[in-house]
Amino acid sequence: SSAVSLENVTRRFNGVPAVDGLTLDIPDGEFFSLLGPSGSGKSTCLRLIAGFEQPDSGVIRLHGTDTASLPPYQRDVNTVFQDYALFPHMSLLDNVAYGLMVKGVGRAERMVRARAALARVELRDVLNRKPAHLSGGQRQRVALARALVNEPRILLLDEPLGALDLKLREQMQGELKTLQRELGITFIFVTHDQGEALSMSDRVAVFDQGRIEQVDTPRRLYFQP
Ligand code: ADP
Ligand code: ADP
Repeated sequence: SSAVSLENVTRRFNGVPAVDGLTLDIPDGEFFSLLGPSGSGKSTCLRLIAGFEQPDSGVIRLHGTDTASLPPYQRDVNTVFQDYALFPHMSLLDNVAYGLMVKGVGRAERMVRARAALARVELRDVLNRKPAHLSGGQRQRVALARALVNEPRILLLDEPLGALDLKLREQMQGELKTLQRELGITFIFVTHDQGEALSMSDRVAVFDQGRIEQVDTPRRLYFQP
């Protein structure tokens, strides 16, 4: 079945389409990348799926449900951005548990789930540290744990590895693939790095000026003449 589908979706800013008649179908459990230059509409596409933007026309469905009147917090998606903000005065554990508190989850369950999410991203030994004492890679993992604690079926990632050095980047790429395999999460991954898109994805959509030029597997995109 389909995790995310877009049917002829358009979003304009000041009359100019940022996303222009997109049609897209992403099956459950797929690692799907949006690849393209800056300004080609990738982030807007992600924000439409998350519900941070509303389309001017077209239909967006999540697991078959029309999202037209579904606010962001009722969607089965979580978003990880490149410039993730952590609360500096809170421990990692509290940073990750915070979103559950807002949702009204009780303290005992919050702690269990936050510990599990931090263990998933290999941070079980630094639960009580404050963000200032973490490396860039560790902070990026906290941001991921903060999304995972909600047990989303769909994860939206907007250039999440852009700020990391090459070694950390490769490590995080492996960890995201492990989450896909072990938890069955559907990933929608925005990048302008062709190598990253080709190495990680089941399929890649190539964006240009708000439209999708091509959607295919890395193998078929790469070997096209
Ligand atoms: P990308 O993620 O590929 O860099 P974006 O989706 O951020 O592309 O942007 C697509 C186009 O829409 C760009 O021309 C950008 O300037 C414009 N745009 C995006 N968000 C807004 C906004 N909130 N207001 C006005 N224009 C926007
Ligand atoms: P990205 O390329 O990752 O989308 P941007 O720096 O283009 O990052 O956009 C960051 C924020 O600025 C987004 O919230 C977007 O909506 C907004 N934005 C982008 N382009 C414009 C624009 N031309 N006018 C107003 N807001 C914009």
